[in-house]
Amino acid sequence: MVTVAGSTSAHPARPRVGVLAIQGDVAEHLAALSRCGAEAVPVRRAAEIDGLDGIVLPGGESTAIGLIAREDGVLDALRRYVDQGGAVWGTCAGLILLARDAGHAQPLIGALDVVVERNAFGPQVFSFETDVTIAGLEGGPFRAVFIRAPAISAAGPGVDVLAALDDDRIVMVRQGRLLATAFHPELTGDDRLHRWFVELCGAQSSVVHA
Ligand code: GLN
Repeated sequence: MVTVAGSTSAHPARPRVGVLAIQGDVAEHLAALSRCGAEAVPVRRAAEIDGLDGIVLPGGESTAIGLIAREDGVLDALRRYVDQGGAVWGTCAGLILLARDAGHAQPLIGALDVVVERNAFGPQVFSFETDVTIAGLEGGPFRAVFIRAPAISAAGPGVDVLAALDDDRIVMVRQGRLLATAFHPELTGDDRLHRWFVELCGAQSSVVHA
């Protein structure tokens, strides 16, 4: 049986946070989550999602990740996890996987009420870094690395826009316990967003499997 508990997380002090380990910067995310006090674990199979306090979906190639995750039943397990109130942070391709609409026919979780434009800044050679001001994040702007990054072109009413670029393209949002960034926060050594996510995983409701 699956229930959603209140403030009685099984791991309030040391949340167990997974990183989807199909492709991308898995090691970098695991290291950052560990530095922020989480028990960080790679996740490859649907059964490993049970009992997590949160999960990070790293960057990579969203079509490839989605197809493999669908094949293995991981995509369905992630949808159930979101439905049960699990905390999920999608970065870059992970944001695309979370989105309701990616403008392409590709397997998506579809839980985040946004429309994303893939490769919104052009091909790999147009990758760039810039300082992004993130609503509610203390300590000044965040150095954000964009690698063939998507941008959010529309966000539903239940979605909080946390960061946008000067040209108004949306690059970070939150919808309840879903967090999404168009950039790669695991590459700069600035752990503020990982710390924030670990706190989100340890707080409020946590998925409890009994
Ligand atoms: N361009 C990739 C995609 O569309 C995402 C790139 C990334 O995750 N760095 O899936």
